[in-house]
Amino acid sequence: MLAGLFSTSVAQAPEAFPVQKGTVEFRKASKSYGDHRVLNAIDLQVASGEVIAVCGPSGSGKSTLIRLINQLETLTSGEILVDGKPTSQLKGRELRNLRRQVGFVFQQFNLYAHLNALENITLALTRIHGKSAAEAKKIALELLERVGLRDKANHYPAQLSGGQQQRVAIARTLAAEPHIILFDEPTSALDPEMIGEVLQVMKSLAHSGITLIVVTHEMQFAREIADRVIFIDGGEILEQATPEAFFTAPQHPRARRFLQKVL
Ligand code: ADP
Ligand code: MG
Repeated sequence: MLAGLFSTSVAQAPEAFPVQKGTVEFRKASKSYGDHRVLNAIDLQVASGEVIAVCGPSGSGKSTLIRLINQLETLTSGEILVDGKPTSQLKGRELRNLRRQVGFVFQQFNLYAHLNALENITLALTRIHGKSAAEAKKIALELLERVGLRDKANHYPAQLSGGQQQRVAIARTLAAEPHIILFDEPTSALDPEMIGEVLQVMKSLAHSGITLIVVTHEMQFAREIADRVIFIDGGEILEQATPEAFFTAPQHPRARRFLQKVL
């Protein structure tokens, strides 16, 4: 009887307190490497579907901040919640689920060199998402189409430009249907003429329902697509503001100094 009541109330909980997919919350999140504290008691809430640009000087903790969200790094103290659930203790299947929901796009693309563009995308679809080979191929071709590379399906990474490789990497991330995508300076390794095509793909994802957290030095891009700009320095969030406010009237002296250098 009691067990019945209990399971009923658990079953009702999601309706009573709907958790929106794609939310991230940092609660006094700190990260140290040995004695070196690289993030200091970060508090941050990201809404579902929001587009956040993270900027700040080199070594300020930007990569660490986003790597903590999908547990590429582990917290020293505090907590990070994804979709309202604490993530610091996740292991095994739950951790794999988190990583599926939270995609990550690296500066260096990280494609498999021995697989062509299509196979880079179908691999996870068949191995992790249980799709048949035919289904996986169909989805992968649609995703390549979406990033403008359907005609490059059979090309290996070495046969693609940096910009094309990064677009394949984004397509591969999308294959998992993530609620959140984290980008760590996705255009920093690219020649200038290739940056635009990658930013264009990212723009097409903004406000499509997926939460985007983008570490970037592309200030014009941040200005155009971000809902909020976060400026970190020395492991702390020194300022968060709309792009309009941040770029026209930064409040923190260090944010002003940073913008003078990069703009
Ligand atoms: P950013 O991405 O803003 O350049 P990072 O988050 O990569 O900064 O690094 C923040 C600080 O943490 C830097 O001082 C960096 O040297 C240090 N750091 C990053 N990763 C490690 C690591 N694996 N071991 C030790 N120190 C690290
Ligand atoms: Mg970095």
